[in-house]
Amino acid sequence: MPETMPKPAILWIRKDLRIADNRALLAACEDNRPVIPVYIREDDGNGPLGGAQAWWLERSLARLGEAYEKRGAPLLLKSGAPLAVLRSLIAETGATAVYWNRRYEPLGIKTDTAAKKALLGDDIEVASFAGQILHEPSKFMTKTGGSYKVYTPFWKAFVETVHVPDPADAPKKLTTVAKPPASENLADWNLYPGKPDWASAFGEIWTPGEDGARERLAHFIDAVADDYAAGRDQPAKEATSMLSAHLALGEISPATVWHAVDGTKGLSGENRKKFLQELVWRDFCHHLLFHSPDLADKNWNDRFDAFEWKSDEKSFRAWSRGQTGYPIVDAGMRQLWREGIMHNRVRMIVASFLIKDLMIDWRQGEKWFRDTLVDADPASNPANWQWVAGSGADASPFFRVFNPVLQGEKFDPQGDYVRRYVPELAKMPAKHIHAPFDAPDDVLDKAGIMLGKDYPKPIVDHKQARKRALSAFEAVKG
Ligand code: FAD
Repeated sequence: MPETMPKPAILWIRKDLRIADNRALLAACEDNRPVIPVYIREDDGNGPLGGAQAWWLERSLARLGEAYEKRGAPLLLKSGAPLAVLRSLIAETGATAVYWNRRYEPLGIKTDTAAKKALLGDDIEVASFAGQILHEPSKFMTKTGGSYKVYTPFWKAFVETVHVPDPADAPKKLTTVAKPPASENLADWNLYPGKPDWASAFGEIWTPGEDGARERLAHFIDAVADDYAAGRDQPAKEATSMLSAHLALGEISPATVWHAVDGTKGLSGENRKKFLQELVWRDFCHHLLFHSPDLADKNWNDRFDAFEWKSDEKSFRAWSRGQTGYPIVDAGMRQLWREGIMHNRVRMIVASFLIKDLMIDWRQGEKWFRDTLVDADPASNPANWQWVAGSGADASPFFRVFNPVLQGEKFDPQGDYVRRYVPELAKMPAKHIHAPFDAPDDVLDKAGIMLGKDYPKPIVDHKQARKRALSAFEAVKG
């Protein structure tokens, strides 16, 4: 390295698997400084936990590796305790700075705070940047200095005070050290063990990586967004962005999504506002997690600590495999298993069914989602589960128990969503598809269904289950 060449900076990549609008990357490569990009497979529980997201991560890292390679700074893959890995890279390369984009989940914050303190002690420059979400939860407070607990005032304050910065372009070229340290081999990480091979259909639907994220965004804006407000609750329709998994691993920045949609000419104010509000729900969930770090483990409202959840493995299994006998629930759970995703409306229905009809602890459902969703997110997942349970901040009240038949009839009136994921009901007429257990025998015969053989009988009676849940709730209502 020539004498005049600046000392290299390490870019520690985490949930920012992108080159564009990456503030830490831009700061690291400023003035043509050599950059050493590294992704660390952390050995302390940080990072994606679930099988579905591990499938995604493997592909996304491969794409990111190509993008860095093309620009002249190969991506290093390392495993271990982050601080030890960073110190070893510093020793090997003579780097004098470590940059990263901030993360907001409790374990990540703990790891980063400890790493920062130790590296500063080693006389290494450390700088962290915003970009994973749109607001800074430590600074965005109510007028009385507390954190937000209700979405509407959060949204109001957000639009009034938060300036979403314009997304920054990707650097076209990077420089790195003459002899980059050795990288581990992605294939050796066995991120996707393949057994059971429930991700075999994922590849047909998803294109992990930054390019895939940009294509999704462009497609949403061109072909979908103008039906967003009206269509987003109908699971059979393509009416939402399908960006959540890309956002969860930072393949696209929320600022990029915000500005692309906000700046779309011809998009009605209603569609624009509804979409931006949903995007900001993601921030609200991170806000809740930041200020209540045990969001995934503890009832936000501790009155629910006394709730008598049932331990019922048989029903849990029927729920998770899509065999409850309630078609909209089964369709949702099978979509999740097959595609690693589930429509938002159906997530609410299946979560309500688990919590209220089966009286199974929301934490069990949250864990299942964490393992099976490609968009599993440590903030959005528990916050939404607690929302449905009624135990969360600004939650739906517990007494609001979704009726799976009425929900199906309202949001999937022709039964197209059910037919897509529950093929055994393909021949059921729309009138009966959401309640085959109430259909006349001749209708079932014609559709080729014998209940209990071709399709399960309901595992609970919804009316009775609702009563049971409400009386259990009375006991903790206080
Ligand atoms: P769009 O409707 O296009 O919305 C745009 C973006 O806004 C989404 O990509 C997402 O980032 C954000 N968003 C939309 N709705 C919500 C919401 N309710 N909460 C937080 N962010 C939202 N979302 C996750 O990203 N990860 C999860 O682990 C997750 N778990 C959930 C669990 C339950 C029980 C429920 C009811 C919802 C959960 N959600 C989760 C929220 C929501 O279902 C998904 O974000 C949405 O379905 C993703 O599809 P989309 O990208 O097409 O959304």
